[in-house]
Amino acid sequence: MKNILFVASECVPFVKTGGLADVVGSLPKNLDKKKYDTRVILPQYECMKEKYKERLKSVCYFQMDNRIYVGINSLVEDGITYYFVDNKQYFCGAKPYFDLFSDLERFAYFSKAVLSALPLIGFRPDIIHAHDWQAALVPVYLNTVFQGDPFFRGIRTIMTIHNIRFQGCWNVGHLRWVTGLPSECFQPGKLVSPYQDTSMPWDEWNATMLRGGIVYSDWVTTVSESYAGEIQTPAFSDGLDDILKWRKDRLMGIVNGIDCEVWNPKTDPHIKKNYDTRNFWNGKKENKIELQKRYGLPENGDVYTLAIVSRLTDQKGLDLIDGIMDELARKDINLIVLGSGDERYENMFRYYSRKYPDKIACRIGYDEELSHLIYAGCDAFLVPSAFEPCGLTQLIALRYGSLPIVHEIGGLKDTVKPYNQYEGSGTGFSFKGYSSSELLDRINHSEWLYRDNNTEWKAMAKRAMKEDWSWTNSSKKYEELYDSLC
Ligand code: ADP
Repeated sequence: MKNILFVASECVPFVKTGGLADVVGSLPKNLDKKKYDTRVILPQYECMKEKYKERLKSVCYFQMDNRIYVGINSLVEDGITYYFVDNKQYFCGAKPYFDLFSDLERFAYFSKAVLSALPLIGFRPDIIHAHDWQAALVPVYLNTVFQGDPFFRGIRTIMTIHNIRFQGCWNVGHLRWVTGLPSECFQPGKLVSPYQDTSMPWDEWNATMLRGGIVYSDWVTTVSESYAGEIQTPAFSDGLDDILKWRKDRLMGIVNGIDCEVWNPKTDPHIKKNYDTRNFWNGKKENKIELQKRYGLPENGDVYTLAIVSRLTDQKGLDLIDGIMDELARKDINLIVLGSGDERYENMFRYYSRKYPDKIACRIGYDEELSHLIYAGCDAFLVPSAFEPCGLTQLIALRYGSLPIVHEIGGLKDTVKPYNQYEGSGTGFSFKGYSSSELLDRINHSEWLYRDNNTEWKAMAKRAMKEDWSWTNSSKKYEELYDSLC
């Protein structure tokens, strides 16, 4: 039996802001329980749902470095043990993340607290699997500050990058202060890029927590094969291509899966009409009408319906959508949006839904239940992201027989097979050049297929629903990686 500890800043069902939480919530459950005892450790946010906070049991508490309180509480959910690092001062507030400046200190504390707690919780991991920059200092502390302690010797580490855009970056002076790491960690090639402007004082050089995780871990993974290649190039690496190229023999992409029990149109309690491949056409129509009702659109099960469920940020390709809104509204279609994020995009969707109230409708906010109905009720699902490490929404859309229209990049390229009318193959539509006109061209093509070649559309929707995007294949790849490490 191998002990694996996941370290992350979010995890379904406790706290979620994006796909990271889905992955940390579902991968441990899908690993072979006979071979791996997988546990998860998270910050104990004040904003966590009350029903989970009530179930927490105290495991231990202590003063880290004789000055900062660390409490460890735990609960068992679905057979997995979850630990929570408790410090009310750091993890108070209505949201898991604040501004970057304070988050650096909060997650440096979290990473060190995780390691400090290990000798006290009765669980010594063989492998620590750290996720994203918020946990990236775990391999760094382990191989520096904690190295001398025999308890930690031989523990292997994996750093998984879910989105390289977020790195935990500030100047050396501040990061040295919040992390307490030795100065060797801030030499070029460690947390600091080898390409530094040496005329600047050392304290002002840029240092990056994620870079540290990549340098100090045994293996680096990311969430699709294409993205693993892309982040080794300057265009996609946000300044980390040098280190990723250097570590390319220890870098691999493993595509994410989805929780097929939660995302199952046959049993989903949040949708109006359950359906499977046999009755999906009529099932989807009933869900579409319910969706139109909830969004205040005219009720019509036959209108071609596009949807977006997304963080509303630059990454998600919403500037392309902005460029074609008027064009879209000229068609006999619906565009249904659920999301929150940058004001620019929130206001853009508010504006167009007021301008075209019978065709475009948006809900600004986060609503898990409504998202289920959208996946079930739309015909096609838009993911035109500028970059996309893996992307989960297109996988969920496939499972619900809603055909994704995607930019051919990262995980979108690896998971959506473009429609090929000659071979009768494909599970969606994709465009190569990042432009509004290419996106519009694919939407037009999909609309034509939906209306004028409906038999082909139905065949494609069935193919999409039959694909297996559960964790079955990907969890095996993680297991192979764990086995290769110890
Ligand atoms: P990212 O992690 O970049 O936000 P992903 O596609 O990997 O994007 O994962 C997004 C997840 O968050 C999906 O499960 C999606 O359904 C969900 N989601 C995004 N925005 C919302 C929202 N406003 N309401 C409900 N669920 C949302």
